[in-house]
Amino acid sequence: MNVAIICTGDELLKGAVTNTNLRFMGEQLLANGIIPKLAMEVRDGMKAISEALEIAFSKADTVIVSGGLGPTSDDVTKEAAAEFFNLQFVQDDKVYFSLMKLWQKLKDEGRDTPSRFLNQCMIPDGSEAIPNRHGTAPGIYLETERGTLILLPGPPMELEPMFTKQIMPILLEKRKREVHSVLLHVAGVPESEVEERMLPLISPKLSVAYCASPGLVKLFLSSTDMNLLRERLVGVKKEFQRELLNSKHMTLQEEVVRLLERAGLTLATAESCTGGLIAERITDVPGSSNIFLGSVVSYSNELKEKILHVSPETLEVYGAVSEETCHEMLNGIAEATGADIVLAVTGIAGPGGGSVEKPVGLVYTGIRIDGENHVTENHFRGNRQQVRERTCAAILNELRLRLSE
Ligand code: ATP
Ligand code: MG
Repeated sequence: MNVAIICTGDELLKGAVTNTNLRFMGEQLLANGIIPKLAMEVRDGMKAISEALEIAFSKADTVIVSGGLGPTSDDVTKEAAAEFFNLQFVQDDKVYFSLMKLWQKLKDEGRDTPSRFLNQCMIPDGSEAIPNRHGTAPGIYLETERGTLILLPGPPMELEPMFTKQIMPILLEKRKREVHSVLLHVAGVPESEVEERMLPLISPKLSVAYCASPGLVKLFLSSTDMNLLRERLVGVKKEFQRELLNSKHMTLQEEVVRLLERAGLTLATAESCTGGLIAERITDVPGSSNIFLGSVVSYSNELKEKILHVSPETLEVYGAVSEETCHEMLNGIAEATGADIVLAVTGIAGPGGGSVEKPVGLVYTGIRIDGENHVTENHFRGNRQQVRERTCAAILNELRLRLSE
């Protein structure tokens, strides 16, 4: 819930009256953990109030206005609000009868009361009158497509009890109904494992949803109980300490690019079975030119030899899909580009090309960092595209982990 406060009254702008209504409401809200997004003081006038409502609803979903609900001609808050939301006025019978009673009594006492006095029973269509136990002008509560509008009488003697006893409970109830949520990205953990590790953190008032893509699981946590959500978030962060992406980043490649930028390191790739997919992912991220030098898509053995200087003997003895070739691809791309960190992949994406010894899904992924080569043998499941996607996710995640260390 985002709150904005508008205090109306020429006397406030002239400095003739201190804005104690704002101070009072601010204190009450703060005591309940709510800090308004903004507060404004505006003149008594249709235009000024209407402009203030526009600004307030652009920043907040709950707008509270004080002042200008009385019967005199400078009291136009209700009118400005009705015009702003294009609403007619209707009579609130309860308020009408109590005003009539008072009007009659004042008349009997010989006091001259203007007929405008009775206007105070007119409220914008669809709104609710909030009884005023210390004055005549009722407060007004209105739900609109832009949010909640609450109009309160200006005199502090009327506003203060109305705010504490009638408004604060509404706001707190409203906040209770609100659903708070967070989105987290867990990298390199299968969805089923994420679900299993989440089990101890689940409770009836917390809703958890998963959405998996290669190498990444989106984890949505939501609850109407903000404190519960905060507490569980701490739990999730502890459980998935190394696997969680920075909350600002939505993809593995984004996190990798930012980590490289921060460390001032450059990257290049040598890709066989991924055919440039890693380079595509990296260059998807705006600003990747700061860190990415380029890629060699060495799909054929010929190119592996010619550009990356993989030795013919290695290709002959161990094959293109081997740990040895991956090592030499790393050395070759590092030499060719001079990048601080290089990646290399060679594997069998399928559907053909597999054998008993080297089945479809066998992929060697390599990272050269600090002058040292690290090559991993992976066995990925899935069709051609899935193997390529999983290779990409795995190597980016490994790079992320090494950079985070
Ligand atoms: P009334 O029926 O008394 O006219 P109203 O809702 O129309 O009430 P205003 O006319 O805006 O309210 O203000 C009435 C008086 O309340 C002002 O003269 C001023 O003394 C006081 N008042 C209004 N706004 C504030 C404020 N923000 N802080 C302190 N006092 C205020
Ligand atoms: Mg007034």
